[in-house]
Amino acid sequence: MYLLGHIGSALICYIMISYIFENDNWDHKRNQILISIGAILPDLLDKPIGALIFGIGRWIGHSILFQLTFYIIVKIVVLKYKPSFYKKYDIEILLTGAIIHLIGDLPGLPLETIFWPMLGGFEISGNSSFLLGYQNIETIITEIGGVLVITILGITQKWRINSWKIVFVLIAFYELLFLMLYTFFIGIYL
Ligand SMILES: [Zn+2]
Repeated sequence: MYLLGHIGSALICYIMISYIFENDNWDHKRNQILISIGAILPDLLDKPIGALIFGIGRWIGHSILFQLTFYIIVKIVVLKYKPSFYKKYDIEILLTGAIIHLIGDLPGLPLETIFWPMLGGFEISGNSSFLLGYQNIETIITEIGGVLVITILGITQKWRINSWKIVFVLIAFYELLFLMLYTFFIGIYL
């Protein structure tokens, strides 16, 4: 699963959770942005650092140990300094997004990586092997699904034109960056 697929599945989980625990105090837009960021954090960390430098596409960002350590450190920092931008449960929502990411990756994610370092080290997969994902039909389907979920959410929440523009620019930037990396690395490693 790629970024848009991860975002789509995290948003579906959020919609289900907020439907079950209906609460008027929830800031849905903020929470949806946070859970989406959480849902792409493991890849944002692991693909540039792990894949491009060490040849490990799913690295520490895909381990529960890292996720929990990150959560505990940020929690301690926000409890101590109480930054004004922080809202209660922000970090829990981010962590939920990251856990949903790991579940989404489960079909191809080695248990050694999830439970690192308890079951052993990381599996080296090649610097650019993660770029080949678009050759799988499942990846394409989940990416389109992600765009659909975001679009439906935007329509039902009556997003303003600026929100649509931001989302469109982010998606276009991500696809362009991916295409550039793919074209670049395909000449070097593949
Ligand atoms: Zn991943």
